[in-house]
Amino acid sequence: MDALDKLGILAEAARYDAACTSSGAMRAPRQDRLGATQPAGCCHAFTPDGRCVTLLKVLLSNACAHDCAYCVNRSSASCARATFAPRELAELTVDFYKRNYVEGLFLSSGVLGTADATTERMVACLRILREDLRFNGYVHAKVIPGTSPELVDALGRLADRLSVNIELPSATSLEALCPEKSRDAVLRPMAQIRSRREDEERLLLAGGNAARPPRLGARGGR
Ligand code: SF4
Repeated sequence: MDALDKLGILAEAARYDAACTSSGAMRAPRQDRLGATQPAGCCHAFTPDGRCVTLLKVLLSNACAHDCAYCVNRSSASCARATFAPRELAELTVDFYKRNYVEGLFLSSGVLGTADATTERMVACLRILREDLRFNGYVHAKVIPGTSPELVDALGRLADRLSVNIELPSATSLEALCPEKSRDAVLRPMAQIRSRREDEERLLLAGGNAARPPRLGARGGR
């Protein structure tokens, strides 16, 4: 399977992952028409200066160890599966950036074995993007519930925004529909992100903003 085949599967698999915006329209491309409201591929984020930037919205993998009843990527679903190698996705993002298709990346994933193993691959992808390919554009990463604090921290150092999905309103419904997930596994990284952001804001106020090496693209801000 080449990178574009994987992109077709993994961009479509990401379409229900909560992002900032969604249109709800579904019109497939037609030969005699210009444009399409394709089911997958991009989402958008708003920068502090009011710009709306386009992000490649994709999963690192839709091969998930969990079986959440409502999810298209659940382990019991019979759908095509694909997984990007970290470098493959990083290079694809930069290729699309250079063609002016996107200005950033929205990265989520199914659970590839364990939350930590998945996040290690996400961190590897973002590290290649930031450090090897010098990408300075906007990156929004989803935290996989159950990821250890050190890896949430590593992900947060490479992304502009982290978020965690609260898919169900109560511990009871979570247990009924996502038996492998716990409320604590969802809420713990949220509390960590909030606490780290407050630390960063205190550091910034104290003038401790560390300089970064030059990178490709203009960063959209936190
Ligand atoms: S862990 Fe995420 S990707 Fe996997 S089945 Fe549950 S909601 Fe879907």
